[in-house]
Amino acid sequence: MSAHHSPSSGNPSGPRRPLILWGLAIGAVLVLFTVAAIMSHRASTIESWTYGQFRRGLVDGQVKSVQLGARSLDAELRSADADGSPRRIRATWSGAQADPDLTTLLDQHADDYEYQRDIGPIASGIATLAVVVLLLLGLFLITRGGGLGPAMAFTRSKPKARDQSSRRVTFDDVAGLREAVEELQEVVGFLKTPERYAALGGRIPKGVLLVGPPGTGKTLLARAVSGEAGVPFFALSGSDFMEMYVGVGAARVRNLFAKAEAKAPCLIFIDEIDAIGKVRSSGASGAQDERDQTLNQLLVAMDGFDANSGIIVMAATNRPETLDPALIRPGRFDRHIRVDPPDLVGREQILKVHSREVPLCEQLDLRQVAAMTSGFAGAELANLVNEAALLAARKGKDRVERADFEQGFERILAGPETRGRVMRPDERRRIAVHEAGHALVSASLPGTDPVHKVTIIGRGNGMGGFTMYRPEEDRFLHTTEWLMHCLAGLLGGTAAEELALNSISDGATSDLQRATQIARRMVTDFGMSPNLGRVCYGIDPSSGQGGPGWSERTIREIDLEVRRLLDEALALAHSLLRRRAGALVALTELLLDRETIDAAELHAVLDSHPDPTPPPPTPSGLASPPDRPSPRSLAFRGVEPN
Ligand code: ADP
Ligand code: MG
Ligand code: ZN
Repeated sequence: MSAHHSPSSGNPSGPRRPLILWGLAIGAVLVLFTVAAIMSHRASTIESWTYGQFRRGLVDGQVKSVQLGARSLDAELRSADADGSPRRIRATWSGAQADPDLTTLLDQHADDYEYQRDIGPIASGIATLAVVVLLLLGLFLITRGGGLGPAMAFTRSKPKARDQSSRRVTFDDVAGLREAVEELQEVVGFLKTPERYAALGGRIPKGVLLVGPPGTGKTLLARAVSGEAGVPFFALSGSDFMEMYVGVGAARVRNLFAKAEAKAPCLIFIDEIDAIGKVRSSGASGAQDERDQTLNQLLVAMDGFDANSGIIVMAATNRPETLDPALIRPGRFDRHIRVDPPDLVGREQILKVHSREVPLCEQLDLRQVAAMTSGFAGAELANLVNEAALLAARKGKDRVERADFEQGFERILAGPETRGRVMRPDERRRIAVHEAGHALVSASLPGTDPVHKVTIIGRGNGMGGFTMYRPEEDRFLHTTEWLMHCLAGLLGGTAAEELALNSISDGATSDLQRATQIARRMVTDFGMSPNLGRVCYGIDPSSGQGGPGWSERTIREIDLEVRRLLDEALALAHSLLRRRAGALVALTELLLDRETIDAAELHAVLDSHPDPTPPPPTPSGLASPPDRPSPRSLAFRGVEPN
């Protein structure tokens, strides 16, 4: 046996280390408990006084500070006890109502006082438990992190390379984004062979910003870039950086870039960058301060690496206008790529991609499915294919048919059918009248989307029934007339209830919300109000707030104009329904009888009760078509609830 033994023989120190750390962890918990015990011992040295004693002591000037709980009060006296610390007393009291003068006395005689909510024994027990659990968890993370300092472990816990997570994604998985893919090819080329680009001295973007609404494939594109180039993918969401503690977000940014540099060439993807990238504030509150620090760190990090080091940072946002200008300066996110919701052809391609592994019936034309899903983004289309496949499987079919897609579409729009729900007969009639009103108004007004289906079958989401429209082709431009007719259609439900049942119900909130939203945009964004002129007021349509300093009076005028447009649309719906009262009755009865009717049945009823005097064209103040509102931003197409 030799005198020495090498440190590396037998057990390496690796497995031992966590054991030591666990020992430390248990030690720390014991210390914590001891401290807690001492604290509660101290608490027991608080003297118990009556309220009278306390009040007299206060008036005598003995009391220094007071904490008023709901059931008791704690006070610190000016005199010290044996061991030199200030004397503490506790008295019961029953709140400020019992002694209204107390506040005055406190103002006069005590240095300081505050009102507190009592923490019950259970709550404080839970709090202690939470502290212990957190402590153990923290120590656990430290031992996992290989004995790094606690702060480092904390900041390291989130950023992870997620390249190993799933199957490799390529551009073949991305459909309908041809231009975006073309632009990103260059990035792929650079990531594949950074040396070649460096040698040629080409200017490679450091940061690429993907701009587009949710579900349009921004994350997918970023993954595809890393997949095509075969480089690691580091993904973080802007909200991951936002922690309670100031400085953690900034540390995570540093950490992320350090990791990326070690693995270059690679791709960093920051989702929802607007969460950190908002314009920096001047007067900083706590949360803003944290965001500013994180953003500053991100700017420093992006400037810090060399353009030829083989790192590309991609980021996604739906609101590029809110980003701090420093973030989109040259050398940072200076390349912007739009990721728009898909058009008809794009939707068909996305459906094709997602049904690659789904057996489709030969007669099924995905173009038709694409036509009925105007306004859907890629994520919703992927969901639709999945729903349709599930529905077909449930019915025991071995191919997915068009009917499955239609049913899946309705489900996604309206929540799953609730056929089982029993409806009161009067409610059922009201819903039939309401839906007949929507359908009749929409079908009678020229230029709107044709009605595809009307139903009074109850659905989830508290919807009584709905009228579904099927846009035949993609529409990017909406004329004033089109929008007014759309408003009339939306208000047709309540208008019919008023005419046929003499009252309206509370089931039409979403109709009114949508109608108000459209009317507001017509006034504030599309310049369609003759009174307010062709001005874009840029006022947030949801809240009616904001805009760069429009006067109270302008805001009020906008409200009045919105009102006027809605009144006009309601009057249009009313007059139409009055003229076609016979058709309304016939349609209501048919709905009560059949529950669901399709376009052909609807038009059969309308043809047998023709309009005596068709409406004149253009009902409202004139205006040119709005500036290409995307079908998605005008999210009122497709289905009409209630
Ligand atoms: P975003 O990041 O823009 O919110 P995602 O990339 O997360 O959207 O999209 C969610 C899912 O929707 C994707 O994983 C994909 O299945 C599907 N998807 C979205 N857009 C497309 C597209 N253009 N082509 C194919 N699939 C898409
Ligand atoms: Mg995403
Ligand atoms: Zn309705």
